[in-house]
Amino acid sequence: MNKLSRMAELVGLLEKEQTLTDSDLRELFDILAESCSEDADRCVQIREEIPAARCTEEEALLYAAARRAREKYYGNDVYLRGLIEFTNYCRNNCYYCGIRTGNTRIDRYRLDKDTILECCREGYALGFRTFVLQGGEDPYFANSINGDERLCDIVSSIHGEFPDCAVTLSIGERSRESYQRLFDAGARRYLLRHEAASPDLYRTLHPSEMSLENRKRCLYDLKEIGYQVGAGLMVGPPGQTTEHLIEDLKYLQELQPDMIGIGPYIPQADTPFGRSTAKCAQGLDKTQKLQLTLRLLAVLRILFPYALIPSTTALASLDPHGRILGLQAGANVIMPNLSPASARENYSIYDNKLYTGAESAQGMTALQKQVEAAGYQIVTDIGDVKCH
Ligand code: SF4
Repeated sequence: MNKLSRMAELVGLLEKEQTLTDSDLRELFDILAESCSEDADRCVQIREEIPAARCTEEEALLYAAARRAREKYYGNDVYLRGLIEFTNYCRNNCYYCGIRTGNTRIDRYRLDKDTILECCREGYALGFRTFVLQGGEDPYFANSINGDERLCDIVSSIHGEFPDCAVTLSIGERSRESYQRLFDAGARRYLLRHEAASPDLYRTLHPSEMSLENRKRCLYDLKEIGYQVGAGLMVGPPGQTTEHLIEDLKYLQELQPDMIGIGPYIPQADTPFGRSTAKCAQGLDKTQKLQLTLRLLAVLRILFPYALIPSTTALASLDPHGRILGLQAGANVIMPNLSPASARENYSIYDNKLYTGAESAQGMTALQKQVEAAGYQIVTDIGDVKCH
């Protein structure tokens, strides 16, 4: 059987069963990688479907299946999330992150409640019905009762002023009690990427005081409390292999998250990874990272057809068409930035992050045009997960 036929068989199985054995997954990723590297002439330009992307016939099969899965649950709708990066203080020292506590080369900031509410008002007028409060693990908002009270006050103020909107939190690891208090204040969704389900890879990405066990404990606590939960990972950090990605897919199948966020790893110069000359095990360049992220995104869409999957800013930062490519590989959410312009450049978790143009709320008209040209429509909707 030739590789294209085998790919069709694997994609068919994936669509039908919504699972694959480890060896079938390995074969699927291998065929996709080989289809690009083996014979460049076999790469076809599918402009209507994947603008500006070199997409092999094997990849086209996968993306088409991902779009079928997405359309079944969400049609062509694209949900908006208004991202408010409200603090860049963090107590942690993740080796890849530009706002790690050890980075002394950024200006730290923390938005006050009035500024955050002003961001929400601006977003609401533009059609946003979900606000995502994202930040480092800021000691000012840490697990102490005072820290919780400060955050709960912000959450309940947003919830009170915008009762038809969802408040999503993305503020890292906390105690179960703290998650419960924030839920009681009105938060209903929580994003916490697990980053790596392999203990070995997790250990190379994070310092010893952080643990995969605690990250998983947080995710299960959040689920039990009743949050819509988002997990996810970086694609292509140093040391990541196909086996690690398979482990991530297995973990996500066990967790059954409502939201899944993946984005390419992009180095930040003031981090240990950014300073190091180490390349990731697969030696991926920018294009390869983009391709692998899109392939994984499509596999995730087929495995989790109900899930809310964003086309991330990191994708857009790698490629001018990244946002749209993500939608065409199965994503159904975009998260423009509502933070004040003065704050955006200091939320530099990786280098060359986009925070203007279509990545910003101010660029909504341009974004709408791009999305419509690709055959999708941005909807004014709270955008809850469909039943699964
Ligand atoms: S990845 Fe998150 S927890 Fe780690 S340093 Fe960055 S903001 Fe802090």
